[in-house]
Amino acid sequence: MALTSIGWTDISLNPGVYGCSEVGPDCSRCYAAVQAARLAHMGMSRYMGLTHETVSGMHWNGTVRVNYREIAVAFSKLPKRKPARVFVTSMADLFHDDVPDDFLDQCFAHMAVRPHLTFQILTKRTARMRRYFERPDLGMIIRNLHALAPDALRRGANSNRVTLPLPNVWLGTSAGRQDLLEQRIGDLLATHAVEWFLSLEPLLGPLDIRPYLGTACESCGATAPDVDWCALDSSYADGHVIAVDNPMIRMSRTNCGPAWKNSANLDAKKNELTNVTSPTTR
Ligand code: SF4
Repeated sequence: MALTSIGWTDISLNPGVYGCSEVGPDCSRCYAAVQAARLAHMGMSRYMGLTHETVSGMHWNGTVRVNYREIAVAFSKLPKRKPARVFVTSMADLFHDDVPDDFLDQCFAHMAVRPHLTFQILTKRTARMRRYFERPDLGMIIRNLHALAPDALRRGANSNRVTLPLPNVWLGTSAGRQDLLEQRIGDLLATHAVEWFLSLEPLLGPLDIRPYLGTACESCGATAPDVDWCALDSSYADGHVIAVDNPMIRMSRTNCGPAWKNSANLDAKKNELTNVTSPTTR
C-alpha cells in the first residue's frame, strides 16, 4: 500500500500481481514497466525477471507472477475506518489472462468487507473483466469468502450479505486513441458496476468520448450518461482531445429499470474534472 500522487485516487494497492504484457500501442510508455525495472535494479526480487530493455525503452517481457499470500497482507494495511479511494494494482493489470479467477475472487472478497473504501479497478483487458463478472457463481464465491472474514471485518460490512455489483467497486478502462477506446469500452459498459470511468492517457491521437456519455431512455426519451467520470492527461491535450468540454464531467446515473428515466444533471458536477499530469501510462 502506498500514498500516491495520482490525482484521482488516495492510495495505490498491489495485492500481489507482478508483471504484464502490452496489449496496444498505448502500453508503449508503461510507467509500471519502468518502475518494475527500477525496483528490480534496487534488489527487490519480486520485480526481477519481468522486463527487458529495447531501443524504445523498458518493456514488460510477458512474465506475470501472482502471490496469493500477499492478498490478505496488502488489504490488511488499508485504513480500518477512514474512507479513501484505493487504486488496485497500479503496477500491473488485474485482469491479465495470467491472473487466475480464484486470485480475483479473493481480492474482491477483501473489497466486499471494506465498504468504507472505494476500490478503483483500471484495466485495458475489459473483455476478460466482463467474462469474470459474468460468471454465474461469482456472487456465491465472494459470499463464501466473505463469510470467512474475521468478525470485525464482517461487522464493518454491516451484514454477511454481499450484493453484486459491489457498491464500493468502480470499474474503468484506459485508452489513448479512439480505435483503442472502442475496442475496450463496449465490454466495460456491458459489465455491471456502480461507476464506470475512463483514463485517457497517454493521448496518442484524437479522442471523442461523446458517444459514450449518454443513451436515450427508450420510454421517456431523456438522456442519461454511460461513463461516470474521466481522467485526462493534460500534458497531451494539445489539439488532440475533441470532447473536453462535456466529457470531463462527473455525472450521476439514475437507473429506471431497463431504460433511463431521469436526465443527468451535467452542470452540477462540472468541477469534478481530474487532470492527471504524469506523462506515462498507469
Ligand atoms: S499500460 Fe497497463 S496493460 Fe499496458 S503494459 Fe502497462 S500495466 Fe500492462
